[in-house]
Amino acid sequence: MQWETVIGLEVHVQLATRSKIFSGASTAFGAEPNTQACAVDLGLPGVLPVLNEQAVAMAVQFGLAVHAEIPEVSVFDRKNYFYPDLPKGYQTSQMYHPIVGAGDVEITLDDDTTKRIRIHHAHLEEDAGKSLHEDFHGMTGIDLNRAGTPLLEIVSEPDMRSAKEAAAYLKAIHSIVTYLGISDGNMAEGSMRCDVNVSVRPKGQEAFGTRAEIKNVNSFRFVERAIAFEVERQIELIEDGGNVVQETRLFDPERDETRSMRTKEEANDYRYFPCPDLLPVVLDQAYLDHLRSQLPELPADKRARFQNELGLSAYDANVLSASREMAEFFEEVHRVCGDAKQAANWVQGELSGALNRENLSIQNSPVSAQQLGELIRRVLDDTINGKAAKQVFQALWNGQGESADAVIEAKGLKQVTDTGAIEAMIDQVIAESPAQVAQYRDSEPEKRGKMIGYFVGQVMKASRGTANPQQVNGLLKEKLDALL
Ligand code: ADP
Ligand code: MG
Repeated sequence: MQWETVIGLEVHVQLATRSKIFSGASTAFGAEPNTQACAVDLGLPGVLPVLNEQAVAMAVQFGLAVHAEIPEVSVFDRKNYFYPDLPKGYQTSQMYHPIVGAGDVEITLDDDTTKRIRIHHAHLEEDAGKSLHEDFHGMTGIDLNRAGTPLLEIVSEPDMRSAKEAAAYLKAIHSIVTYLGISDGNMAEGSMRCDVNVSVRPKGQEAFGTRAEIKNVNSFRFVERAIAFEVERQIELIEDGGNVVQETRLFDPERDETRSMRTKEEANDYRYFPCPDLLPVVLDQAYLDHLRSQLPELPADKRARFQNELGLSAYDANVLSASREMAEFFEEVHRVCGDAKQAANWVQGELSGALNRENLSIQNSPVSAQQLGELIRRVLDDTINGKAAKQVFQALWNGQGESADAVIEAKGLKQVTDTGAIEAMIDQVIAESPAQVAQYRDSEPEKRGKMIGYFVGQVMKASRGTANPQQVNGLLKEKLDALL
């Protein structure tokens, strides 16, 4: 039997507002426990929530970025349940009238093909506090700093068919929210996490199988691993004559498995009802138009422009548009040097290699986009050859010069293109290598091309890497063949 995997994701994105969604308390990460939850976040008697307009604007911008319908009216509901880190006894969310309607996101797969994943809706809600289990000797500590932090929950249709597609979707969402600047996207700090719904069905069958939901997965890699485990578990279960039950599971990265947390029968009845303390949110056209006018160029548009206008390959366009910082760096290098392909090669090659080696992000690159662009310009106008360019890059990286030109000057790396000078070096090398010259002369003509490499190496060395390699090659061949 051939099985097909079906996946739908619910992604929680922490919005980068400075204060909470319904209060003025700070949302800054890392403060002392319980110093950033005010009476409103705790739902104390007599307080009234006030909606943070910035959270609304960010949610709408996300909606516009994924081509979603934005309904004129959205409504906040109370989702009632008891949990120690939710002292209010309810979470304010949007159940029936979310702020963002149906939209779609383009994902890019390993073979550079693209696929559209539909978004069912996205809604605003508040985060709960945190339960801390370490350091409390069998008890639980509660930190309510996170209570009331604005979240955008983005619910996809069950359109993904593999773990890879699910990871690509999560990356696409990450890229959109960070381009928009509506979230820092920091998964390690919990700014983005997702619930992964997984089911399997016999290939060709139209009806979906029963799904399991894996809660709170917080890295791209864990998403793939959790799905891989879950798919295998479900297939084995069905093939052994069992049934998948609808339940919530947890992924344990240490043991690389998912475990049942609660089944549908144990699920809460949340008794949703419209929050009587908050008015419906009504958005007019002028407001939407204003937010639309503030949208930056988005990853998918950048990718398309890099391919269509700059002539980059799908692969290059994809890598260079993955993060806004990377894209902006590349565009600046391109602006300075004027050659997109060279700019792409240097950013992805020499620069990314050096950044990875030292575990630096592109924002912290010791070589600026301006410096790299100027360096490439000196390669393009033949001031230096490729070998010297790498030396210049290294010097700039190490802070041994203000600009490519300064390094070229200081290190004497200017390319030698003067035929007379190159000929003089060649004559000297030939005079000092009688054995190699004899070998060259005595070998089969078709092998001589390869043997010339030795002489090129010697001449380049004599020039300290600055001779123009094409000229060296051509002149050497002439001179050696004249000795035959
Ligand atoms: P609920 O109302 O229980 O939250 P939804 O229908 O809203 O369920 O779906 C929640 C998430 O689960 C969505 O992202 C959806 O795409 C996904 N989903 C629904 N059915 C399946 C299924 N059979 N297999 C995989 N994912 C599914
Ligand atoms: Mg749900």
